[in-house]
Amino acid sequence: MADIRIENLRKQFGSFVAVEDSSFVVDDGEFLALLGPSGCGKTTTLRMIAGLELPTSGRIYLDGEDVTFNRASARDIAFVFQLFALYPHMNVRRNIGFPLLSQGMPKAEIRKRVQETAHLLQIDHILNKSVSGLAGGDRQRVALGRAIVRRPKCFLMDEPLGTLDAEFREVMVHELRELHNRIHATTVYVTHDQHEAMAMADKIAVMNHGVIEQFGTPQEIYSKPATMYVADFIGSPPMNFMRFTSRLQRGARFVSLDGVDVAVPEIRQEMAEGELALGVRPEHIRFSDASPLRGAIYGSEYLGTNQVVAVETSSGMIKARVPANRSFRIGETVGLEFNPANLALFDCKSGRAVASSLYSEAKHV
Ligand code: ATP
Repeated sequence: MADIRIENLRKQFGSFVAVEDSSFVVDDGEFLALLGPSGCGKTTTLRMIAGLELPTSGRIYLDGEDVTFNRASARDIAFVFQLFALYPHMNVRRNIGFPLLSQGMPKAEIRKRVQETAHLLQIDHILNKSVSGLAGGDRQRVALGRAIVRRPKCFLMDEPLGTLDAEFREVMVHELRELHNRIHATTVYVTHDQHEAMAMADKIAVMNHGVIEQFGTPQEIYSKPATMYVADFIGSPPMNFMRFTSRLQRGARFVSLDGVDVAVPEIRQEMAEGELALGVRPEHIRFSDASPLRGAIYGSEYLGTNQVVAVETSSGMIKARVPANRSFRIGETVGLEFNPANLALFDCKSGRAVASSLYSEAKHV
Protein backbone atom coordinates (compact mmCIF):
# COMPACT_ATOMS: atom_id res chain seq x y z
CA MET A 1 0.00 0.00 0.00
CA ALA A 2 1.03 3.63 -0.31
CA ASP A 3 0.46 7.19 0.76
CA ILE A 4 -0.93 9.82 -1.63
CA ARG A 5 0.40 13.37 -1.52
CA ILE A 6 -1.26 16.19 -3.43
CA GLU A 7 0.52 19.51 -3.76
CA ASN A 8 -1.14 22.71 -5.00
CA LEU A 9 -3.30 20.83 -7.44
CA ARG A 10 -5.31 22.99 -9.83
CA LYS A 11 -7.57 22.16 -12.75
CA GLN A 12 -9.02 24.63 -15.20
CA PHE A 13 -11.47 23.84 -17.98
CA GLY A 14 -11.09 26.90 -20.22
CA SER A 15 -11.52 29.84 -17.88
CA PHE A 16 -13.50 27.78 -15.33
CA VAL A 17 -11.52 26.67 -12.28
CA ALA A 18 -12.83 23.24 -11.19
CA VAL A 19 -10.13 22.57 -8.56
CA GLU A 20 -8.21 25.37 -6.88
CA ASP A 21 -4.85 24.93 -5.17
CA SER A 22 -5.59 21.65 -3.37
CA SER A 23 -2.99 20.20 -1.01
CA PHE A 24 -3.44 17.20 1.27
CA VAL A 25 -1.92 13.89 2.28
CA VAL A 26 -3.68 10.54 2.56
CA ASP A 27 -1.49 8.43 4.81
CA ASP A 28 -0.71 4.83 4.02
CA GLY A 29 -3.79 2.73 4.87
CA GLU A 30 -6.02 5.75 5.50
CA PHE A 31 -9.57 6.26 4.20
CA LEU A 32 -10.20 9.80 2.93
CA ALA A 33 -13.64 11.04 1.88
CA LEU A 34 -13.86 13.95 -0.56
CA LEU A 35 -17.18 15.45 0.47
CA GLY A 36 -19.18 18.27 -1.07
CA PRO A 37 -22.19 19.16 -3.22
CA SER A 38 -22.50 18.41 -6.92
CA GLY A 39 -20.03 20.34 -9.06
CA CYS A 40 -17.56 21.21 -6.27
CA GLY A 41 -14.65 19.40 -7.93
CA LYS A 42 -14.58 16.02 -6.14
CA THR A 43 -14.59 13.84 -9.25
CA THR A 44 -12.09 16.07 -11.03
CA THR A 45 -9.71 15.73 -8.06
CA LEU A 46 -10.15 11.95 -8.07
CA ARG A 47 -9.65 11.71 -11.84
CA MET A 48 -6.40 13.65 -11.55
CA ILE A 49 -5.15 11.22 -8.87
CA ALA A 50 -6.18 8.34 -11.11
CA GLY A 51 -4.39 9.79 -14.13
CA LEU A 52 -7.58 10.20 -16.14
CA GLU A 53 -7.25 13.98 -16.15
CA LEU A 54 -4.04 16.05 -16.34
CA PRO A 55 -3.77 18.86 -13.77
CA THR A 56 -3.30 22.40 -15.01
CA SER A 57 -0.65 22.75 -12.31
CA GLY A 58 0.45 21.03 -9.11
CA ARG A 59 1.92 17.65 -8.25
CA ILE A 60 0.66 14.19 -7.30
CA TYR A 61 2.89 11.73 -5.43
CA LEU A 62 2.06 8.07 -4.94
CA ASP A 63 4.22 6.18 -2.47
CA GLY A 64 6.75 9.04 -2.69
CA GLU A 65 6.97 8.86 -6.49
CA ASP A 66 5.92 11.85 -8.61
CA VAL A 67 3.20 10.35 -10.84
CA THR A 68 1.72 13.66 -12.05
CA PHE A 69 2.38 12.88 -15.69
CA ASN A 70 2.21 9.07 -15.54
CA ARG A 71 -0.50 7.35 -17.53
CA ALA A 72 -3.38 5.87 -15.50
CA SER A 73 -2.26 2.32 -16.32
CA ALA A 74 1.18 3.08 -14.87
CA ARG A 75 -0.14 4.20 -11.47
CA ASP A 76 -1.16 0.92 -9.83
CA ILE A 77 -4.45 2.39 -8.66
CA ALA A 78 -7.89 0.76 -8.75
CA PHE A 79 -10.82 2.97 -9.67
CA VAL A 80 -14.36 1.94 -8.65
CA PHE A 81 -17.05 3.91 -10.46
CA GLN A 82 -20.66 4.44 -9.55
CA LEU A 83 -21.75 2.74 -12.74
CA PHE A 84 -19.56 -0.30 -12.83
CA ALA A 85 -19.75 -2.48 -15.91
CA LEU A 86 -19.58 -6.18 -15.16
CA TYR A 87 -19.20 -8.58 -18.08
CA PRO A 88 -22.72 -10.02 -18.36
CA HIS A 89 -21.68 -13.17 -20.21
CA MET A 90 -19.19 -14.18 -17.49
CA ASN A 91 -19.89 -15.65 -14.08
CA VAL A 92 -18.76 -13.98 -10.85
CA ARG A 93 -15.47 -15.94 -10.69
CA ARG A 94 -14.43 -14.89 -14.20
CA ASN A 95 -15.53 -11.29 -13.65
CA ILE A 96 -13.34 -10.98 -10.56
CA GLY A 97 -10.40 -12.80 -12.14
CA PHE A 98 -10.51 -10.88 -15.42
CA PRO A 99 -7.99 -8.14 -14.50
CA LEU A 100 -5.45 -10.81 -13.52
CA LEU A 101 -6.08 -12.76 -16.73
CA SER A 102 -5.39 -9.57 -18.71
CA GLN A 103 -2.09 -9.26 -16.83
CA GLY A 104 -1.15 -12.77 -17.97
CA MET A 105 -1.13 -14.29 -14.48
CA PRO A 106 -1.03 -18.12 -14.36
CA LYS A 107 -4.49 -19.71 -13.99
CA ALA A 108 -3.76 -21.48 -10.68
CA GLU A 109 -2.63 -18.19 -9.10
CA ILE A 110 -5.74 -16.41 -10.44
CA ARG A 111 -7.96 -19.10 -8.94
CA LYS A 112 -6.28 -18.70 -5.55
CA ARG A 113 -6.52 -14.90 -5.57
CA VAL A 114 -10.18 -14.93 -6.68
CA GLN A 115 -10.98 -17.40 -3.91
CA GLU A 116 -9.26 -15.20 -1.29
CA THR A 117 -11.00 -12.07 -2.57
CA ALA A 118 -14.41 -13.74 -2.61
CA HIS A 119 -13.83 -14.94 0.94
CA LEU A 120 -12.90 -11.41 2.03
CA LEU A 121 -16.10 -10.06 0.51
CA GLN A 122 -18.17 -13.03 1.72
CA ILE A 123 -19.33 -13.90 -1.77
CA ASP A 124 -17.76 -17.38 -2.00
CA HIS A 125 -21.20 -18.90 -2.43
CA ILE A 126 -22.00 -16.99 -5.63
CA LEU A 127 -18.69 -17.51 -7.45
CA ASN A 128 -20.23 -19.76 -10.08
CA LYS A 129 -23.39 -17.69 -10.60
CA SER A 130 -23.99 -15.47 -13.60
CA VAL A 131 -23.64 -11.76 -12.76
CA SER A 132 -26.76 -10.86 -14.75
CA GLY A 133 -29.10 -12.28 -12.10
CA LEU A 134 -27.38 -10.68 -9.10
CA ALA A 135 -28.97 -8.13 -6.77
CA GLY A 136 -27.47 -4.61 -6.50
CA GLY A 137 -25.43 -5.27 -3.36
CA ASP A 138 -23.85 -8.42 -4.77
CA ARG A 139 -23.05 -6.69 -8.06
CA GLN A 140 -21.32 -3.98 -6.04
CA ARG A 141 -19.33 -6.62 -4.14
CA VAL A 142 -18.26 -8.27 -7.40
CA ALA A 143 -17.15 -4.86 -8.73
CA LEU A 144 -15.18 -4.32 -5.53
CA GLY A 145 -13.73 -7.81 -5.85
CA ARG A 146 -12.47 -6.98 -9.31
CA ALA A 147 -10.67 -3.95 -7.88
CA ILE A 148 -9.30 -5.73 -4.79
CA VAL A 149 -8.04 -8.82 -6.60
CA ARG A 150 -5.28 -6.79 -8.29
CA ARG A 151 -3.92 -5.66 -4.90
CA PRO A 152 -3.29 -2.13 -6.14
CA LYS A 153 -1.41 0.53 -4.15
CA CYS A 154 -4.64 2.41 -3.50
CA PHE A 155 -8.34 2.59 -4.25
CA LEU A 156 -10.24 5.48 -5.70
CA MET A 157 -14.02 5.28 -5.43
CA ASP A 158 -16.46 7.68 -7.06
CA GLU A 159 -19.88 7.50 -5.37
CA PRO A 160 -19.77 3.69 -5.59
CA LEU A 161 -23.04 3.35 -3.64
CA GLY A 162 -24.89 6.01 -5.59
CA THR A 163 -27.22 3.67 -7.43
CA LEU A 164 -28.20 1.52 -4.44
CA ASP A 165 -31.42 2.02 -2.53
CA ALA A 166 -31.24 3.43 1.01
CA GLU A 167 -31.37 0.09 2.81
CA PHE A 168 -28.58 -1.47 0.74
CA ARG A 169 -26.50 1.66 1.02
CA GLU A 170 -26.49 1.37 4.78
CA VAL A 171 -25.40 -2.26 4.59
CA MET A 172 -22.67 -1.44 2.07
CA VAL A 173 -21.38 1.53 4.11
CA HIS A 174 -20.85 -0.88 6.98
CA GLU A 175 -19.32 -3.53 4.71
CA LEU A 176 -16.95 -1.12 2.99
CA ARG A 177 -15.62 0.13 6.30
CA GLU A 178 -15.29 -3.47 7.56
CA LEU A 179 -13.40 -4.34 4.41
CA HIS A 180 -11.14 -1.35 4.89
CA ASN A 181 -10.41 -2.44 8.47
CA ARG A 182 -9.33 -5.82 7.12
CA ILE A 183 -7.20 -4.81 4.13
CA HIS A 184 -6.11 -1.27 5.17
CA ALA A 185 -5.94 -0.08 1.59
CA THR A 186 -5.26 3.62 1.11
CA THR A 187 -8.60 4.87 -0.18
CA VAL A 188 -10.01 8.10 -1.59
CA TYR A 189 -13.79 8.02 -1.67
CA VAL A 190 -15.96 10.66 -3.36
CA THR A 191 -19.40 11.33 -1.95
CA HIS A 192 -21.93 14.14 -1.54
CA ASP A 193 -23.46 12.26 1.42
CA GLN A 194 -22.22 13.46 4.82
CA HIS A 195 -23.49 10.30 6.54
CA GLU A 196 -21.38 8.08 4.29
CA ALA A 197 -18.32 10.24 4.86
CA MET A 198 -18.79 10.44 8.62
CA ALA A 199 -19.45 6.71 8.95
CA MET A 200 -16.56 5.47 6.84
CA ALA A 201 -13.72 7.94 6.63
CA ASP A 202 -10.65 8.44 8.82
CA LYS A 203 -10.32 11.93 7.34
CA ILE A 204 -12.71 14.15 5.39
CA ALA A 205 -11.91 16.93 2.93
CA VAL A 206 -14.95 19.20 2.66
CA MET A 207 -14.99 20.87 -0.77
CA ASN A 208 -16.80 23.96 -1.99
CA HIS A 209 -16.42 25.54 -5.45
CA GLY A 210 -13.16 23.71 -6.12
CA VAL A 211 -11.62 24.62 -2.75
CA ILE A 212 -10.97 22.35 0.22
CA GLU A 213 -12.54 24.32 3.06
CA GLN A 214 -11.45 21.92 5.79
CA PHE A 215 -9.45 18.74 6.07
CA GLY A 216 -9.69 16.72 9.27
CA THR A 217 -11.15 13.78 11.12
CA PRO A 218 -14.96 13.46 11.15
CA GLN A 219 -14.89 14.59 14.80
CA GLU A 220 -12.84 17.73 14.00
CA ILE A 221 -15.02 18.60 11.03
CA TYR A 222 -18.18 18.27 13.11
CA SER A 223 -17.10 19.86 16.36
CA LYS A 224 -14.56 22.43 15.13
CA PRO A 225 -15.82 23.66 11.75
CA ALA A 226 -13.28 26.03 10.25
CA THR A 227 -15.89 27.86 8.17
CA MET A 228 -19.63 28.59 8.16
CA TYR A 229 -19.90 26.53 4.99
CA VAL A 230 -18.55 23.42 6.75
CA ALA A 231 -20.69 24.08 9.84
CA ASP A 232 -23.75 24.32 7.61
CA PHE A 233 -22.94 21.38 5.32
CA ILE A 234 -22.27 18.91 8.15
CA GLY A 235 -24.91 18.00 10.69
CA SER A 236 -28.60 17.40 10.42
CA PRO A 237 -30.07 19.83 11.21
CA PRO A 238 -26.95 21.94 10.54
CA MET A 239 -25.31 24.34 12.98
CA ASN A 240 -27.47 27.37 13.89
CA PHE A 241 -26.12 30.84 13.19
CA MET A 242 -27.26 33.83 15.24
CA ARG A 243 -26.11 36.94 13.42
CA PHE A 244 -25.16 40.24 15.04
CA THR A 245 -22.91 43.21 14.40
CA SER A 246 -20.03 43.95 16.74
CA ARG A 247 -16.41 44.91 17.21
CA LEU A 248 -14.53 42.44 19.36
CA GLN A 249 -10.90 42.62 20.34
CA ARG A 250 -8.53 39.74 21.01
CA GLY A 251 -9.36 38.11 24.32
CA ALA A 252 -13.05 39.13 24.29
CA ARG A 253 -15.18 36.55 26.08
CA PHE A 254 -18.70 37.95 25.71
CA VAL A 255 -20.89 39.01 22.82
CA SER A 256 -24.10 40.97 23.03
CA LEU A 257 -27.04 39.17 21.44
CA ASP A 258 -30.29 41.07 21.54
CA GLY A 259 -28.94 43.10 24.49
CA VAL A 260 -28.01 39.95 26.42
CA ASP A 261 -24.36 39.16 27.22
CA VAL A 262 -23.54 35.65 26.03
CA ALA A 263 -20.28 33.98 27.09
CA VAL A 264 -18.26 32.79 24.08
CA PRO A 265 -14.87 31.16 23.58
CA GLU A 266 -11.98 33.62 23.61
CA ILE A 267 -11.38 35.63 20.41
CA ARG A 268 -7.98 34.53 19.10
CA GLN A 269 -7.37 37.12 16.44
CA GLU A 270 -6.50 40.81 16.80
CA MET A 271 -9.97 42.04 15.96
CA ALA A 272 -13.30 40.62 14.78
CA GLU A 273 -15.69 43.24 13.52
CA GLY A 274 -18.70 43.76 11.29
CA GLU A 275 -21.33 41.09 10.84
CA LEU A 276 -20.52 38.08 13.03
CA ALA A 277 -22.43 34.87 13.69
CA LEU A 278 -22.60 32.82 16.82
CA GLY A 279 -22.68 29.15 15.83
CA VAL A 280 -24.31 26.50 17.98
CA ARG A 281 -25.24 22.91 17.17
CA PRO A 282 -28.89 21.98 17.92
CA GLU A 283 -27.86 19.43 20.58
CA HIS A 284 -25.92 22.09 22.49
CA ILE A 285 -28.96 24.26 23.23
CA ARG A 286 -30.86 23.89 26.48
CA PHE A 287 -34.18 25.45 27.36
CA SER A 288 -33.94 27.24 30.68
CA ASP A 289 -36.56 29.51 32.22
CA ALA A 290 -33.79 31.51 33.89
CA SER A 291 -32.06 32.51 30.65
CA PRO A 292 -32.67 36.11 29.54
CA LEU A 293 -32.11 35.11 25.91
CA ARG A 294 -35.69 34.49 24.78
CA GLY A 295 -37.40 33.03 21.76
CA ALA A 296 -40.86 31.85 20.69
CA ILE A 297 -41.62 28.25 19.74
CA TYR A 298 -42.28 28.07 16.01
CA GLY A 299 -42.75 24.31 15.57
CA SER A 300 -41.35 20.94 16.49
CA GLU A 301 -40.41 17.72 14.76
CA TYR A 302 -40.83 14.60 16.89
CA LEU A 303 -38.08 12.06 16.20
CA GLY A 304 -38.81 9.37 18.78
CA THR A 305 -35.62 9.52 20.85
CA ASN A 306 -35.64 13.34 20.81
CA GLN A 307 -37.33 16.25 19.06
CA VAL A 308 -36.05 19.16 16.99
CA VAL A 309 -37.76 22.37 18.07
CA ALA A 310 -37.64 25.54 15.94
CA VAL A 311 -37.46 28.76 17.96
CA GLU A 312 -37.86 32.24 16.54
CA THR A 313 -35.40 34.71 18.09
CA SER A 314 -34.55 38.28 17.21
CA SER A 315 -31.24 36.96 15.82
CA GLY A 316 -32.96 34.46 13.52
CA MET A 317 -34.65 31.05 13.61
CA ILE A 318 -32.73 28.42 15.51
CA LYS A 319 -33.28 24.68 15.96
CA ALA A 320 -32.72 22.88 19.24
CA ARG A 321 -32.52 19.13 19.77
CA VAL A 322 -34.21 18.50 23.11
CA PRO A 323 -35.70 15.50 24.98
CA ALA A 324 -38.76 14.00 23.33
CA ASN A 325 -40.90 13.92 26.45
CA ARG A 326 -41.50 17.68 26.74
CA SER A 327 -44.38 19.25 24.88
CA PHE A 328 -44.56 22.82 23.65
CA ARG A 329 -47.23 25.25 22.52
CA ILE A 330 -46.67 27.18 19.32
CA GLY A 331 -45.83 30.78 20.30
CA GLU A 332 -44.75 29.78 23.83
CA THR A 333 -41.71 31.78 25.05
CA VAL A 334 -38.64 29.84 26.13
CA GLY A 335 -35.22 30.83 27.48
CA LEU A 336 -32.15 29.56 25.62
CA GLU A 337 -28.92 28.51 27.25
CA PHE A 338 -25.63 27.63 25.54
CA ASN A 339 -22.49 26.14 26.97
CA PRO A 340 -19.60 28.39 25.83
CA ALA A 341 -17.45 25.27 25.42
CA ASN A 342 -19.65 24.27 22.51
CA LEU A 343 -19.95 27.59 20.69
CA ALA A 344 -18.21 28.91 17.62
CA LEU A 345 -17.98 32.46 16.33
CA PHE A 346 -17.69 33.28 12.63
CA ASP A 347 -16.91 36.33 10.56
CA CYS A 348 -19.85 36.42 8.11
CA LYS A 349 -17.83 38.20 5.42
CA SER A 350 -14.98 35.70 5.17
CA GLY A 351 -17.09 32.84 6.55
CA ARG A 352 -14.16 31.78 8.73
CA ALA A 353 -14.21 30.91 12.42
CA VAL A 354 -12.73 33.66 14.56
CA ALA A 355 -13.28 31.78 17.80
CA SER A 356 -14.48 28.42 18.96
CA SER A 357 -13.64 26.41 22.02
CA LEU A 358 -11.42 24.28 19.82
CA TYR A 359 -10.61 26.86 17.16
CA SER A 360 -6.86 26.72 17.67
CA GLU A 361 -6.89 23.16 16.41
CA ALA A 362 -9.22 23.72 13.45
CA LYS A 363 -7.17 23.73 10.27
CA HIS A 364 -7.82 26.13 7.42
CA VAL A 365 -6.55 24.73 4.15
P1 ATP B 1 -20.70 15.60 -9.25
O1 ATP B 1 -20.96 14.77 -8.05
O2 ATP B 1 -21.91 16.28 -9.78
O3 ATP B 1 -19.87 14.92 -10.30
P2 ATP B 1 -18.26 16.88 -8.45
O4 ATP B 1 -18.03 17.58 -7.17
O5 ATP B 1 -17.63 15.55 -8.61
O6 ATP B 1 -19.80 16.81 -8.72
P3 ATP B 1 -16.82 17.58 -10.82
O7 ATP B 1 -17.39 16.48 -11.66
O8 ATP B 1 -15.42 17.44 -10.38
O9 ATP B 1 -17.75 17.87 -9.58
O10 ATP B 1 -16.97 18.93 -11.64
C1 ATP B 1 -16.55 20.17 -11.14
C2 ATP B 1 -16.91 21.24 -12.12
O11 ATP B 1 -16.10 21.10 -13.28
C3 ATP B 1 -18.35 21.17 -12.60
O12 ATP B 1 -18.86 22.47 -12.70
C4 ATP B 1 -18.25 20.54 -13.96
O13 ATP B 1 -19.28 21.00 -14.82
C5 ATP B 1 -16.89 21.01 -14.46
N1 ATP B 1 -16.28 20.04 -15.34
C6 ATP B 1 -15.94 18.78 -15.05
N2 ATP B 1 -15.38 18.15 -16.11
C7 ATP B 1 -15.37 19.07 -17.12
C8 ATP B 1 -14.90 19.07 -18.47
N3 ATP B 1 -14.34 17.98 -19.01
N4 ATP B 1 -15.05 20.20 -19.20
C9 ATP B 1 -15.60 21.31 -18.65
N5 ATP B 1 -16.05 21.39 -17.37
C10 ATP B 1 -15.93 20.30 -16.62
